[in-house]
Amino acid sequence: MEMEKLVSLCKRRGFLFQSSEIYGGLNGFWDYGPLGVELKRNVKDAWWRDMVTAHDDMSVLPGAPTEYEMTGLDCTIIMHPQVWKCSGHFDLFVDKMVDCRESKKRYRWDHVVGAWVTGAKKQHGADAVKAEVERVFVTVMDSENPLPQIETRALKYFGLRAKDASKIEMESKTAVLSSFDSFEAVVGPDATTTGTLTDPRDFNLMFPTTIGALGGEDDRAFLRPETAQGIFVNFRNVVDSTRVKIPFGVAQVGKSFRNEITPRNFTFRSREFEQMEIEFFCHPDSSQKWYAFWRDRRMQWYKKLGLSGERLILREHHQDELSHYSTGTADIEYAFPFLPAGEYGELEGIAHRGDFDLRSHMEGKLDEKSNPLAVQLNEHGKPKYRGSGKDLTYRDEVTNERYTPHVIEPSAGADRATLAFLCEAYREDSAPDDKGNMQTRTLLSLHPRIAPIKAAVFPLVKKDGMPEAAKEIYLALKQKFNVFYDEKGAVGRRYRRQDEAGTPYCITVDGESLSDKTVTIRDRDSLEQVRVKMDDVVAEIESRINA
Ligand code: ATP
Repeated sequence: MEMEKLVSLCKRRGFLFQSSEIYGGLNGFWDYGPLGVELKRNVKDAWWRDMVTAHDDMSVLPGAPTEYEMTGLDCTIIMHPQVWKCSGHFDLFVDKMVDCRESKKRYRWDHVVGAWVTGAKKQHGADAVKAEVERVFVTVMDSENPLPQIETRALKYFGLRAKDASKIEMESKTAVLSSFDSFEAVVGPDATTTGTLTDPRDFNLMFPTTIGALGGEDDRAFLRPETAQGIFVNFRNVVDSTRVKIPFGVAQVGKSFRNEITPRNFTFRSREFEQMEIEFFCHPDSSQKWYAFWRDRRMQWYKKLGLSGERLILREHHQDELSHYSTGTADIEYAFPFLPAGEYGELEGIAHRGDFDLRSHMEGKLDEKSNPLAVQLNEHGKPKYRGSGKDLTYRDEVTNERYTPHVIEPSAGADRATLAFLCEAYREDSAPDDKGNMQTRTLLSLHPRIAPIKAAVFPLVKKDGMPEAAKEIYLALKQKFNVFYDEKGAVGRRYRRQDEAGTPYCITVDGESLSDKTVTIRDRDSLEQVRVKMDDVVAEIESRINA
């Protein structure tokens, strides 16, 4: 599928618009249109229902190590600035960027290296590029003049271990890039030659803002770059105000903001987006089992809603790729059509975070063991930033054991999931038009649970009592679902419009309906039409959607 076709359908049919479009748009910001808002809401509702309110429906997925509880939160976007100091975001939530001295354009450093790798592969073949990187890698390992690192991501692509890759120095940048014809030739007209890029430097991705009228340094706050921290800082509140016992999970859906250096690929990398996150608290001894459970459960969720086959993969991180506090991380990735063949984009990360976050938000609880990479120690060996001073440990009422729970974090993006469902659903086939001629048909084969409109109701023609009968069915369905009524134009055209909107069922009232009280239900994907009694339509549609 060509991405341009989906992008154009999304605009034409009202799934997605560029934010502030009449003023030329704003890079990295997107608005969901009338169909898009329904689709995305259905994705979030399906997630909430399957993960939270119906989580113990074991018909969904057996295999949980023991029973567990789930609950939810809805926290603020702006939080106490200390939260981000203790979480590590204030110091370490950075990407490396480079500027082109000529065009003044700004690039993410890993994208520059990635683009080089992809382009060079196309030109010279993967084996030649791999050999060249390895050659340079060895040269640079021996180099006496170390400069900033090459981003590890591109090198992981070649199967180099991150630990080794991090030793590759800036010097190798020029060596790698100049080793094939010219950088410009491989990264495209938008890019620049190696010589005109500034050195990579850190850029913090958090959006700063100011609280109150004075606007001094003390009033500086940030828009949250993830929803997770709201859950950690409310851990005590949740335990004290509910009767949840470990193991339990707390879920949250909400906006997050990252000042991405190069937002791109439609909504995939936006500056404002929505996350669906769970922090699952468990005993350290059973945490590995829970990690495996959540990894498999989350993978199965995407499959059940229609992402299937080879485009969806689960990628376990290599030991070297893990954060210092994590004993396991897996990404659920999807082969988005805008990526080069064989490459995948992250939909969700599932991480075993140990007790890192709760410990970081306590005070004076940090010791040598809790590697001070994210919560830094000052020159006296004390945490650089003070924690909350609150006790975020947990006491088991049965065994009386007190411990800091371990956390498994399945962290998904609502926009990326929605985009993946759209990409997977886009199809073109051929179907007969009103005159019986075969025509190309565009459809969105969305799972009925997430389809924006569940059913459309049409009178075949605007006379003989058909509109009245159709409206009656429409009103009955409307009590339960988002449905659509349309009486304008040829019926074939009306079907086509619904196919493009991803509506799984069209119900048509025709001449026969008035005498035998039946209607046709047309299936979007198979084009099969069956006759159903008018009185049974609601039950029939309901059972198909929940099938
Ligand atoms: P990436 O490596 O693609 O930047 P990440 O590893 O930084 O992603 P996380 O911090 O793990 O992402 O965030 C969890 C989820 O939030 C991601 O899997 C993704 O679905 C979503 N997400 C993160 N950044 C963005 C963004 N800029 N635009 C849209 N969704 C995002």
